[in-house]
Amino acid sequence: MLTGKVIISGCIKVITGLRIGGSSGGLKIGGIDLNVITDPEGKPYIPGSSLKGKLRSLIEKKEGEITSEKVHYCKDKQSYEKCRICKVWGISPTEKDINIDIPVYTRLIIRDVPLFPESITEEMHKNIDLQWTEVKVENVINRVKGSAESPRQIERVPAGAIFKPMEMIFNVFEETDKELLKVVFEAMELLEDDYLGGMGSRGYGKVKFENIEVYWNKKEDYENGNLNQNKINNGFTIPSEIVKNFSKIINNLK
Ligand SMILES: [Zn+2]
Repeated sequence: MLTGKVIISGCIKVITGLRIGGSSGGLKIGGIDLNVITDPEGKPYIPGSSLKGKLRSLIEKKEGEITSEKVHYCKDKQSYEKCRICKVWGISPTEKDINIDIPVYTRLIIRDVPLFPESITEEMHKNIDLQWTEVKVENVINRVKGSAESPRQIERVPAGAIFKPMEMIFNVFEETDKELLKVVFEAMELLEDDYLGGMGSRGYGKVKFENIEVYWNKKEDYENGNLNQNKINNGFTIPSEIVKNFSKIINNLK
């Protein structure tokens, strides 16, 4: 049974060029070999599924639950009841051989995050190759010959761009779920010291979460239309501050 929903809002700032790939087939624009994913208006966005998957994999690596690049899923009730990863990020309904005879809910929902167009300034527009993005040529090194071969044109969102509004929803079903909320912010801390999207080993994809606000909407608030009134982040607006002060923030979840 639902107790309430925690709404996390904020923005994602691109610190080093960000590349989240679009479909590889189809039309190539201007000879670009690898395009970024765009919305129907042609503006880049961060798919919620990419962000959610990356956050999950970082927590899986931290907690040692990653096995040969396969996503971790608990197979039985005993391990599921103790598992922060499966309780927060969910279990794929297509996974076979799972035998958990209690309801399995996904607590975390992450929406697609659109590009904030004004974050690409006039100055940046002069210096980038396409309307919203820059094109970088990356050489593929032949390790045997030691020579550069087949340079590829890679599209990426330039440093300084901002994606917002970011919106994450964390469903609270039982009292112990409140403690689980912390892992979402831990994952965000880990992502800031990792990378989002592709080509991270070439320096791409450093991002920062900023202006985070956290709201607590109880079940009764939905009955009264009283939503997003109860801000609970105590003025802490970045992941590390929220993690550090989580014991105070959790007290607001009443
Ligand atoms: Zn698990």
